[in-house]
Amino acid sequence: MPTPAAITCRASHLGSVKKLDPAILALLREKIPGHFGEGSGNDIDLVLENAVLDPFRFRAGPLVSSLELHLALEGLVGSGAGAARKVGLIFAGGYAFKPGIFGLMFDRGFRTNDDENPRFTTPARQGCAVFLDPIGRLRAPGIPDRNTSQDFQKEVLFTATHELGHVFNLGHQENLNNFMRSSLPGSVFPAAAFKFLEGQKRILSRCSRDVHVEPGGSKWGDLGPDIDIRDGGVYDRPPGNLPVDPKSPLRLQIGLAMTAFHYYQPMELDVKLGLARGTKASVTVPDRVDCGYPDFTLWIEDSDGEIRRYRPLNHYCSLPGDLEIKPGKPFRRDISIFGQAGGYTFRKTGPHRIWAEFQIPGGRCIRSNVLDFELLGPGRKMQSRADHRKLVQIAGPALFYRSLHLGSRSGRALKQLADSKGKDFIADRAAACYSLGRILAKRALAEKGKADARTAIRHLSVAAGYEDIGINRRHIALELTRQLKRLL
Ligand SMILES: [Zn+2]
Repeated sequence: MPTPAAITCRASHLGSVKKLDPAILALLREKIPGHFGEGSGNDIDLVLENAVLDPFRFRAGPLVSSLELHLALEGLVGSGAGAARKVGLIFAGGYAFKPGIFGLMFDRGFRTNDDENPRFTTPARQGCAVFLDPIGRLRAPGIPDRNTSQDFQKEVLFTATHELGHVFNLGHQENLNNFMRSSLPGSVFPAAAFKFLEGQKRILSRCSRDVHVEPGGSKWGDLGPDIDIRDGGVYDRPPGNLPVDPKSPLRLQIGLAMTAFHYYQPMELDVKLGLARGTKASVTVPDRVDCGYPDFTLWIEDSDGEIRRYRPLNHYCSLPGDLEIKPGKPFRRDISIFGQAGGYTFRKTGPHRIWAEFQIPGGRCIRSNVLDFELLGPGRKMQSRADHRKLVQIAGPALFYRSLHLGSRSGRALKQLADSKGKDFIADRAAACYSLGRILAKRALAEKGKADARTAIRHLSVAAGYEDIGINRRHIALELTRQLKRLL
């Protein structure tokens, strides 16, 4: 018999969350290793260990951001290769971008590297989070101390096991009672769902000898040659396997501010989901227009013709929710596409193409327009360009996560970039002004801070005044400016 894979799961609270009762943590320490031991025929020897994050480094509110999760994971399991037999389980109040979800699984975050040869790979499937406030709202409504509620305890156990299942490369299995089913709003699943299915057990039992199961070993959904993907359930879709619905009244449109740029430049993709002209009735779609769901996919064709999926940082496990698209009122959002899980998104110079697909009911999808763009090479090595590139690279994480968290080096570079003068790098300066303006606007609106509001208005007006900023970003910049002016 092979030696079981010894996996240490370090569990911790993050942010100002009402903590789990020690009795619940003790229950998790007992039950979760048991489920994985049994589910893997004792090939997984999981130990759940309580850990404490440095309270001075992490001062997140009840809602945590993607960046805070990534920093917390680093705090729990360390960084670099060889750390894969440690995984992180983070309990937080809620996820800032999707406050209703119970949990998510995530890869190591976006990183930049200042040197000439950035490394693009970092371990996948090493962290997961369970969000206690939405679980409390739905499973222990009206109960003064949610920790005492049986349903709350059961849902925390179910969700933590489910998210760790993703860490071991299991997908969703929706139609049968099992740990990898997505929780539903109504009630916690019955005891019969607290188990792994036979196919899932076949996968888990390979952990000690297959990197496609071992945490950190392969991307989520990459099961290698020896595993039947049907055993794993539903993952992100492979390219082009969904037919386009020609009759759908929905129209998906994407836009980019520039058609030629460098790999390190902060590119945002504008996404618009609206209705065809003349459509009279609203259309309801799942509220999943985000790369963290398998329903929404960005496809990238590299200069050598390879088609790949934009690799999101997070994989959401959500309750069902709807988005209503009304005539004349399209849904708009933007997505920072220059970074993805592991590092920069674009790696090869030359012509590229990008398009989006959104899955709609009935096993079909709608497809966006296709954008062509050129990824620029290093070009002439002017000193000013080299200095500028270095600044943009250092500012990369602050631009990508839109956060000045921890007053980091990256945050300082973002401010420097936003205040830079000269016309040569106006596109990067406009992007920096937009990001910094949004960060400061958020803080100003939350804390009613007039100084922040004034600085935010100044940066947002630079962004909105830049011709190629894109319709979404100009719209958001002007709307935020209106709200901020009310504070003054
Ligand atoms: Zn899930």
